Amino acid sequence: MSFDVARRTIDETVSAGCKKLRLLLMGGEPFMDFDLLRRVVEYARDHVENVHIKTVSNGTLIHGEVQQWLYENRDSVFVSVSLDGDRENHNRNRCGSYDKIDFPFFIRTYGKEAEASMVASTENLDSLCHNVQHVEGLGFNVKCVLADDDNWDAERDCPRLAEQLDRLIQYYLTHPERKPFTMLRESLGNVNTQMNIGHCRPFVNMHCVAPDGQRYACHRCTPYYNNGAWQILETDTVSSDGGIMESCASCVARNVCCVCPALVHSLRNNKPMAATMCRLFRVVHRANAAFVAQLFLSHPEHPYIKSMQHPAEMIDGARSILTHLAL
Ligand code: SF4
Ligand code: SF4
Repeated sequence: MSFDVARRTIDETVSAGCKKLRLLLMGGEPFMDFDLLRRVVEYARDHVENVHIKTVSNGTLIHGEVQQWLYENRDSVFVSVSLDGDRENHNRNRCGSYDKIDFPFFIRTYGKEAEASMVASTENLDSLCHNVQHVEGLGFNVKCVLADDDNWDAERDCPRLAEQLDRLIQYYLTHPERKPFTMLRESLGNVNTQMNIGHCRPFVNMHCVAPDGQRYACHRCTPYYNNGAWQILETDTVSSDGGIMESCASCVARNVCCVCPALVHSLRNNKPMAATMCRLFRVVHRANAAFVAQLFLSHPEHPYIKSMQHPAEMIDGARSILTHLAL
């Protein structure tokens, strides 16, 4: 991206009245051009009252002066590291880069907030529990999603996913010092609420701009993600209303499932894939409900319970999922 495209985007955002900007810089690899990244960050900070910048990086170029700059700017610039697990699992999909990442730097800089972005795929699914434990052992919180546009097969992969989540539940129950990874931190308190949940709204509260200035629904819908399979231009209407299938409208998990408009838009017209993802999502929702139930029944002092804002609603949501959501 040229500096001009970045500057123009920030200017347009400011002239539209934005006073609080969350800027997400994605690649490729954002640190391929550190000077540009630094200029964009400085420009944003000079022109918006309240700005916070996040990047997702493979970490391989974060050394020397880049580290120093990030450390000095840690209050306003945050880096999430793409990390799929131990050396062998990570290197399989990420060009052998494990040993090029300075893990202690991220822990030193972001402390308890240090975050690793992990992708669970058909290939590494059987190592999910091991990989999460490994990355948490390095000191990171783990943010994990199922790979988009992978060759998922519900019959084959649902039992694999269920087994891994079950192992992770036992692990978190017996390791209260660990913050559960995101896949086991669903907001089940929203399951029975009638309130309108504040979902992401592409083109309303967020905009995505590619290096050539072309606008897309979000970073996940650019040609750089999913081999371009999810390309969604800003001119398309994107909303999570209705879910990925007709049955979503009456599903008990509706408020915690398919809340990503890009995912809904991309799967709605692909019935076989939507049905497969629905089966995987059900496994995840039921695992979350089982986790909450076990926490309250046998680990009432667990720090995860203490961190819940509305524990009664969480129990209620877990009960509804376990009662009404079949696998
Ligand atoms: S679990 Fe399936 S039916 Fe229910 S909301 Fe999710 S995708 Fe739709
Ligand atoms: S549309 Fe989905 S992937 Fe894109 S920013 Fe919103 S929630 Fe994230």
